[in-house]
Amino acid sequence: MNYRHSFHAGNFADLVKHALMLWLLRTRQAAGPVVVLDTHAGAGLYDLTGDATRSREAEAGVERLMATAERPPLIEALASEVATLNPGGGVRFYPGSPVLVARRLGADDAYVGFELREEVAGLLRESLTGFARVRGEIGDGYDLVRAEARRTKAPLVLIDPPFERPDDYLRAADTAAAIVTADPGAIVAIWTPLKDLETFDGFLRRLAAGTKAPTLVAEARLRPLTNPMKMNGCAMVVVNPPAGADAAAAEICGWVARTLGDAGAKGEVWRV
Ligand code: SAM
Repeated sequence: MNYRHSFHAGNFADLVKHALMLWLLRTRQAAGPVVVLDTHAGAGLYDLTGDATRSREAEAGVERLMATAERPPLIEALASEVATLNPGGGVRFYPGSPVLVARRLGADDAYVGFELREEVAGLLRESLTGFARVRGEIGDGYDLVRAEARRTKAPLVLIDPPFERPDDYLRAADTAAAIVTADPGAIVAIWTPLKDLETFDGFLRRLAAGTKAPTLVAEARLRPLTNPMKMNGCAMVVVNPPAGADAAAAEICGWVARTLGDAGAKGEVWRV
């Protein structure tokens, strides 16, 4: 498996995922201390002067985010995290989900991230150095998260696979369903690419077969889904969305589609 998130860090899909995660975390924290579980954590922090210059995805994503003046509050919240990591200006460093969450943890919160690739897990642990109540674990996040979820109450879970294996959709759906079935207080956010609708519908059908918990779909479509080989958009699927999630997701997906998409791009939020 060859997926390296360093090529994609700071792209439009990261902006959707990370802006919504920041909102979910803040909202969940208002209900009491929270443990955040991150099944596919990645490196934690990205230097965009590396692989990202070759893909140019960050240039079309976070660089445009930081250059624009029109930033609604939930987009501004992410921009402000990026600005803090780049005190000299510019956009050299971009936070992955581990650093983004670690920076916002409260005194009684905790974070556990799982990463399969050993060299990436090393970077993950390095990026978490200096933060309290955080752990980076090497291993299969789908397997490990279930045991970790059983040790806590009402966790906030991010499932963010590379989708380079055919079973990623099935395992993501089954893991989310298992977690909310075991703990109806858990909130689970699953990120997926939008390539073609049949694949996405199949994922939602699998999720619905495993849980009847309320489920929100937040889509940012940057172009029509006519070429299934391309990432034409992305979605965050949130099981047990907190109150206010529909408006939050609409603000984020709408901004990303409007600002970074082709003509006809759209953000859409709906319930399964
Ligand atoms: N969540 C990260 C973020 O928002 O910054 C990005 C994660 S990236 C999309 C996916 C990561 O999952 C890669 O670093 C990959 O090596 C790792 N990975 C792949 N399969 C995995 C598995 N079964 N368990 C844990 N990590 C896995």
